Amino acid sequence: MNVGKLIVVTGPSGVGKGTLVRSLLARHPQLHLSISMTTRSPRPGEVDGQQYYFVSKSEFERQVKAGNLLEWAEFAGNCYGTPRAPIEKSLAQNQSAILEIELEGARQVKINFPQALRIFILPPSLSELERRLYSRASDSTEAIARRLQRAPQEIAAAEEFDIQIINDRLETAVRELEFAIFPHLNIEDPIPHDKV
Ligand code: 5GP
Repeated sequence: MNVGKLIVVTGPSGVGKGTLVRSLLARHPQLHLSISMTTRSPRPGEVDGQQYYFVSKSEFERQVKAGNLLEWAEFAGNCYGTPRAPIEKSLAQNQSAILEIELEGARQVKINFPQALRIFILPPSLSELERRLYSRASDSTEAIARRLQRAPQEIAAAEEFDIQIINDRLETAVRELEFAIFPHLNIEDPIPHDKV
């Protein structure tokens, strides 16, 4: 039987969670990726309803009060949350859903969905994380500083998670992520290059 799993992918900002999850989805399009709601402003190229639902602070608060978010947290000055309904729908249809979220949200999921598979993505080092955040060039220096300041505290919580993966080489990390979610797959199978 195909049973829908709730999968949580967490790790410090800039560690490459988004890239990893996108590579995974390219290989497993049956997985449902949750689109979060945020009060952060869109970065260049981000489209409402694709990367996030971009909302005002008052709309976010309204959604929290209405109980429409499965978890939510404040991160680096903005609020982020997971809309509850699409996740419940996926799981009811035995379809697995992935949340790419920060630490506080992942802790809430652990309380509300203890059966969720929780995966923590680590950078090879803090200096490499800093390099990645700056090379992404999508945030202000101040926003990068706030994200970096939070990183050691997040990394220290890695052991709370079921699985830890170091995102050093993307191809290897995608493979480990895939194996964590689909343990029955043969990890020796090569990944086609266009899927990484
Ligand atoms: P960014 O602003 O770089 O897109 O995201 C900042 C952080 O918020 C990242 O660590 C990202 O994983 C996390 N995040 C994105 N969506 C959610 C969400 O719905 N809930 C929580 N708790 N964190 C989220």
